[in-house]
Amino acid sequence: MEIFVEKNALSFQLVKDVLKNYSVKIISSYEDFKWETKSFPELISLGKKRLFLIYYKGKFFRKCPGTKVYFCCGYKIFHFGEGCPLDCSYCILQLYLNRPGLKIWANLIEDGLPELKKILNEYKEKKQVLRIGTGEFADSLALESICNVSEILINFWQDVNPLAVLELKTKVAISENYFSKFKPDPRIIFAWSVNTEKIVKEEEKGAASLKKRLESAQKAIKYGFTVAFHFDPIIFYEDAEKEYPQVLEKILNSIPLEKIAWISLGTLRYPKDLKSLAESRFPKTKIYSQEFIEGLDGKKRYFIDLRRKLYNSFKKIIDETKDLVTFYFCMEGERMWEEVLGKKINSSFQVKTLLDRVALNLCSGKTKLNLGDLNEK
Ligand code: SF4
Repeated sequence: MEIFVEKNALSFQLVKDVLKNYSVKIISSYEDFKWETKSFPELISLGKKRLFLIYYKGKFFRKCPGTKVYFCCGYKIFHFGEGCPLDCSYCILQLYLNRPGLKIWANLIEDGLPELKKILNEYKEKKQVLRIGTGEFADSLALESICNVSEILINFWQDVNPLAVLELKTKVAISENYFSKFKPDPRIIFAWSVNTEKIVKEEEKGAASLKKRLESAQKAIKYGFTVAFHFDPIIFYEDAEKEYPQVLEKILNSIPLEKIAWISLGTLRYPKDLKSLAESRFPKTKIYSQEFIEGLDGKKRYFIDLRRKLYNSFKKIIDETKDLVTFYFCMEGERMWEEVLGKKINSSFQVKTLLDRVALNLCSGKTKLNLGDLNEK
């Protein structure tokens, strides 16, 4: 990995810490960086081997981009950077991040944490639970060995608003050494995106095997953290209906149910321009060759009958958990919630409340508030 640091980012703590262990190249700015003359798909691949530490002037705290037309869970994001060294054929970042390279905001300790602290205090005053994550524009832990962003946040969490959970979404394996650095805290949720072995092998270049992800989750639990799993994207292929439930079974057989914050389900969806870009980068991928419709949010998705079939393949196992685990959908409507999860959900507010209740439970060791005291707005 080549590391580049903007000249005006050299004085920030995160950069000083990186400099202790890595040699870097100093550049005037990311904006002025001269990329080789290559096609955009080639630059995306090249950019995955170049990390830029940048002085960031935007907002660190954001709402999840979600969508207004499907139910959304009211998730918030601590925006620590953009880009991912892993390379999944379905990754929408290929399209969304129109400048190549991995970027981490150098000033996140000096500017990001105070901004976050202010928000956390506001939520505390309003007696609202905050669910916040870092994995929307990046993998939360893939660059941890270089920049320690999650470590900074986990340590920061020790002294912050007790009514807040931090979800760190990843596809990498994490060592026992890593977890052993911290005090136990059930409000920290290590979350793995999971998929069938076939999809992991064929479509998730650089990601850990399913076995390694589950072993990492077991280690997280051993050190006093909570875990979560995201079946996202669920991708259709011939044996998908047989193999996805097997993955769920593996999870439920190897992880104590009470340590699982939530499990989400979401089938493949993508902005239409991603198909040609991804197919040029991954000529062997077949995931875009299904039939898709354009959803109300403008993204391509499977027809409802296929989505229903895929979700229903999990139903028997979900029913057997008897609500001991909270399942939810990412971007589905009322009918699917009722049919597959047996839950009457008819607004984004209800999805948010469902997950806020789980979060409050995880915070219970740190707060005397109970559900009745919560201001569920
Ligand atoms: S791990 Fe996530 S962010 Fe990284 S390439 Fe895969 S989908 Fe994209």
